[in-house]
Formats: sequence, C-alpha cells, structure tokens
Amino acid sequence: MIPVQGLTGAKVAVLGLGRSGLSAARALRAGGGEPLCWDDNPAARDAAEEEGFTCVDLRRAGAFEAIARLIVSPGIAHLYPQPNPVVALALEAGVPVDNDIGLFFQSFATDDWNGMDNPPRVIAVTGSNGKSTTSALIHHILTEAGRPCQLAGNIGRGVLDIDPGTNGGVVVLELSSYQTELARSLTPDVAVFTNLSPDHLDRHAGMGGYFAAKRRLFAEGGPDRAVIGVDEVEGRFLAGQLSEERRDDRVIRISSGQKLSGPGWQVFARKGFLAEFRRGKQVASVDLRAVPGLPGAHNHQNACAAYAACRALAVPPKVIEAAFHSFEGLPHRSQLIGEIGGVRFVNDSKATNVDSAAKALAAFQNVRWICGGLEKEGGLAALSGAVSSVRKAYVIGREAAQFAMQLNVEAEVCGTMDVAVARAAAEAEAGDVVLLAPAAASFDQYDSFERRGEDFIAQVKARLAEK
Ligand code: ADP
Repeated sequence: MIPVQGLTGAKVAVLGLGRSGLSAARALRAGGGEPLCWDDNPAARDAAEEEGFTCVDLRRAGAFEAIARLIVSPGIAHLYPQPNPVVALALEAGVPVDNDIGLFFQSFATDDWNGMDNPPRVIAVTGSNGKSTTSALIHHILTEAGRPCQLAGNIGRGVLDIDPGTNGGVVVLELSSYQTELARSLTPDVAVFTNLSPDHLDRHAGMGGYFAAKRRLFAEGGPDRAVIGVDEVEGRFLAGQLSEERRDDRVIRISSGQKLSGPGWQVFARKGFLAEFRRGKQVASVDLRAVPGLPGAHNHQNACAAYAACRALAVPPKVIEAAFHSFEGLPHRSQLIGEIGGVRFVNDSKATNVDSAAKALAAFQNVRWICGGLEKEGGLAALSGAVSSVRKAYVIGREAAQFAMQLNVEAEVCGTMDVAVARAAAEAEAGDVVLLAPAAASFDQYDSFERRGEDFIAQVKARLAEK
C-alpha cells in the first residue's frame, strides 16, 4: 500500500466506495488522515463500516465545512453532463476535488528514495484505445528485461494498493480520461498517448473536453519523455506543443501505417515491420508479422507505443523483440478462442466503441461479425468504411433490429449471443473468422464487456466440446 502523504490529521471526504474509493480510504487512514466516506448504495456503506470507516451523509448542507479535500471515484460525474450532487456541494464550498491517482502521485516518492542509485520510475499510459494492451505489454517487456515492475490503475492493482517503490523498479499505470481529468498531481516519468477517437463525450462535454482531459497528463506532469501517437491531428498537435524544436527527443512520435521522418525520435510500424529512427538514422527494426499476441495494425500501434516507452528506459531492442514473441495478449482483445473445421473464433468483446471495432475488423479477413449492444453517442456511420472484410453481420442486443439497419453489410437480427454464435457457425466456411467485436457497450444485456466475452467463449467452448 502507498500511505497518503500530506493529509495527516485532515478530514478527507471519499465519494464512491467501490474498489478505488475503499483503497483510497485505506491509504488515507494509513497516512494519518481521517476519511469520511459516502456511497448512495447502503450495501457499499455497510462494507466500509465493517472495515472500521466512518460513513457520513455528504449530501447534507454544511457537510463540507471542515473537509480538506473530496476524493471521487471514476464512475461518478464531477463536471459533465452535470456534477454529482455531492461534488456540486464540495465545489460550492470551495473544497478541492481529487481522485486516487492524484493521491498516488502526491504520495509515491518517499525519503527512502534519496538512498537509491536508480529511483523508481512511473510510466503512465492514456489514449482512447489500446491502453490496457499497451500497459500490459510494457509490463511484460520490463519483467522479461529483469526490471521489477508493477501494473496498476485501470488494469492490475489499484494505484494505492501497490507496493512502495524499489531501487530500479517501474510502475506502469493505465489511466482513463476520467482519471487524468480530475487528478490534482500527475507526474509520470514517461507518459504515453496511444490515439484519440470519440468516446465518453457526455462526460467531457464533447471532443475538445475529452482531448483536454487526456492532455493534462502531459501539460501538468511535464514527463521526461512523452510517447505520442501521431496518427490523428490531436496527437500531432500535442507532439508539436511538447517539443522545443524538431530535434527535441523528449518526444517520441509513434505511428501505425505512416513512415515518420525528421530529426527527432520516431517509432513506426509499416507493412508488418516496426522501425526506430533517431536523428534521421535507423536504430532498429522488428518483424511484427509473426508475433502471435499482437495481430493487426492496431496492435502494431500498441507495439510501437510499448517499444518506445521501454526504449525511453533504455531497454535494448533485441530484448523488446524477444518479449513481443512471448506476449500472450489480453482476454477479450483479439483473443483466439479456438478453431472448428478451419473456422477461427475470436473474442474482441472489449471493442465497445466504433473505432476499436473497426480496428478489430481490419485485423482479419472473411469475417462473420457478431456485433450490437448499447449504441454509443456518435452513431455507427464511421463503421461503413470498415466492413470490407465482413461477409455477414449477426446482430445482438436489445435494439438489434435498429442496429442492423444502420450497417452497410448483410445483417441478420439474432438478439442473443447463443443465436448469433449458432447462426455464424452454421454459415461459416473454412478460412472464415467468427469475430465478436460489438462496436457498442454491453449494459443492455450484460454487467460488463467481460461477461459478454465470457458468454461468447462459453458458446464456442460448448461447440468445441461437441466436436
Ligand atoms: P483500452 O484499455 O484503451 O480500452 P484495450 O487494449 O483494452 O484498450 O483495447 C480495447 C479495444 O480496442 C479492443 O477491442 C482492441 O481490439 C481495440 N484496440 C486495441 N488497441 C487499439 C489501437 N491501438 N487502436 C484502436 N483500437 C485498438
């Protein structure tokens, strides 16, 4: 655990008692602070009280009079579409609002670090898609390179639950836009921006707010090195703003698909090969075509981001290349479940938005595409250019018929996963890929994208068992 520093003796309100809220309360208590907890759900309050925490109704007038700070969980809106009523009260009372990530950055460095020759480093990864894959890949590479490494944030452990930093140790943090928008301290040594496409727009009042939330990781934190995906205009803008001049190699530009040139530091993937250039000269090249855990151009972008972050910590290219080959990928992201009669079944339940589904579709040929669910803001129009690999769509979700009508490809309304898998399997021929890439959230039928992916896996496994 990382005890919170700087709030000893202070009353700190904690709103939301899920994983991050409870862990913040524990870390505050360990640092000598006095957490005052609240969650609208009585069961969550009971769980906190069982651990000895005090719950107080933060919705009451005057609740913030003696409070030094409010810690908010990422699921709770703090600004848009409108602040949660408790947050609104804190704002009226002039109380600073923060989250577990801010507490982590304010507390991670300790006096012990003075005696270390190689003090701990933090790599923070943000972006619209690919954060988890990139973070897990960085963690895997560093572990293979023999560096003590901890994975935390949205993936792995809660940030305040990790072990204190060690000599030569690295913490890899996956951070969402909700987290970067709110954290009062954001000081990673290496910050990574994978890409940007519309998502969560209601929470950020549009694309500008969404980009601004992610940009804080670079603007507030002043990392020693910034790894920036420049395939969108926002990334190019950010990379330019962070550079003193074109040669400035504190910024490492990455791309999937474009050859990058210039006097700075670049890592890009084209036609299945990753290339690293520095000061106009090629430093290394890696063949990504035969790397099983990283299929498709989108994963090549993740490979470039992870490669660049590890190069920023001086890991040799050959060590990174070997680690790529032993990376198994993450569940629910281009995850191969099995093969029946030459038909491969792939689970990409994590493709919850249009951009990630388009990337998953582009990674395969002859796709029998299982899609549908709770549609996100912005509609499905952006998918129309991405369906050239699709033979037919099998649509699930409560609004499956309406979803199917918007697709630019032959579509059958299946409603539920069992029907969709059965229909796709019945029609598939050897060489086809049955791909779950919903392009939608799962909450109309499932608790989470994980449950949706597990349902797909269960249907496929039942067929494998019958074989
Ligand atoms: P995140 O943590 O940002 O949601 P993940 O690594 O979990 O990212 O991947 C989420 C989804 O996006 C998956 O469906 C995956 O296939 C797709 N994806 C992964 N990497 C990228 C990328 N670089 N660009 C676009 N889509 C991606």
